[in-house]
Amino acid sequence: MKNVKAYGAEAPEAELKQMSIERREVTPNDVEIDILFCGVCHSDLHTARNDWGGTIYPAVPGHEIVGKITNVGSEVTQFKVGDMAAVGCLVDSCRTCDSCKKDLEQYCLTGFTGTYNGKDKHSGGHTFGGYSEKVIVDEHFVLKVPGNLDLAAVAPLLCAGITTWSPLKHWKTGKHSKVAVVGLGGLGHMAIKLAKGLGAEVTLFSRTPGKTKDAKELGADHVVISTDNNQMKSVQGKFDLIIDTVPYVHDVNPYVATLSISGTLVLVGYLGPLDPMLNSVPMILGRKSVAGSVIGGIAETQELLDFCGKHNIVSEIEIIKMQDINEAYERMIKSDVRYRFVIDMTSLANS
Ligand code: NAP
Ligand code: ZN
Repeated sequence: MKNVKAYGAEAPEAELKQMSIERREVTPNDVEIDILFCGVCHSDLHTARNDWGGTIYPAVPGHEIVGKITNVGSEVTQFKVGDMAAVGCLVDSCRTCDSCKKDLEQYCLTGFTGTYNGKDKHSGGHTFGGYSEKVIVDEHFVLKVPGNLDLAAVAPLLCAGITTWSPLKHWKTGKHSKVAVVGLGGLGHMAIKLAKGLGAEVTLFSRTPGKTKDAKELGADHVVISTDNNQMKSVQGKFDLIIDTVPYVHDVNPYVATLSISGTLVLVGYLGPLDPMLNSVPMILGRKSVAGSVIGGIAETQELLDFCGKHNIVSEIEIIKMQDINEAYERMIKSDVRYRFVIDMTSLANS
């Protein structure tokens, strides 16, 4: 075991602060990564503050990790010291169940090991995320980074990117698709870029009129202000696929009304019972679906990174220091992020 510097929370209401955590020694299949950048996901905030229940403290968030390999185990075949590498939301799974065999580790039937707040099979304790100097991960869960992309702006692809890519691919988004995205934050802005990259006509639903210009620059063809009833009426029955990234409980029914016949609304943000309840009438009469989706598998994440390399797609980022994380969380709650904070991890290493 070795001690490394990290940033985490000791309790739901506590601010994040510097602490020391233990990382395991490199085992034969492991890769050791010096973390250069880590994106800040709204899930980090939910976990640090125990919004979903079940947070184990101290909690060290961070699952959008990019860094440089400094050590590899004797049986590692895909990586070598000096390579750039990335780690997303998963660091382990059973690898033998039906889901894992189909490269759907995110739906591992025994539960995947999250990069943070997961049950660590090595230590017996819980996993610590990327707000730290180093991470040690089995090579199966390590991704290759395209050489042509800005490393800091790649980091958010590891969660915001794959979480929106996976439903876009599952629901077969292509040139003839009409896709809508609800909420322009970290996930939402990646959904726009990726849907556009796949050739779809893209609409943003936002509560925030001030984001219209940005949305168009990101690739949205249309913007609908969701609080304006006339604008909502003008898009009734239009979309094949809606990706809803809103983190808190909200009325989904007005968005279902904008699905086309057989269209699907995929919830990727809010986790919990819907309120108000879902009305089945438009679903039955229009064969519409309301679905959910969680992150993506390792092979699919590599597919996304390769697609982004080929199409030059990265996240729009604001680089912060590790020490600015508490302020960044407050800004995220106010939707004041354009469009992903990424921590320059040298600010922790040099502290
Ligand atoms: P974010 O950057 O904070 O963006 C969320 C956006 O939703 C905001 O920019 C805002 O957009 C809109 N919004 C925020 N609060 C709202 C409210 N009360 N009512 C309506 N709209 C609201 O968050 P993120 O990092 O993209 O994450 C979004 C959610 O996805 C979080 O809950 C996160 O935990 C979850 N998540 C899920 C997965 C998964 O695998 N399913 C993976 C990662 C994250 P406008 O200003 O445009 O309205
Ligand atoms: Zn995330």
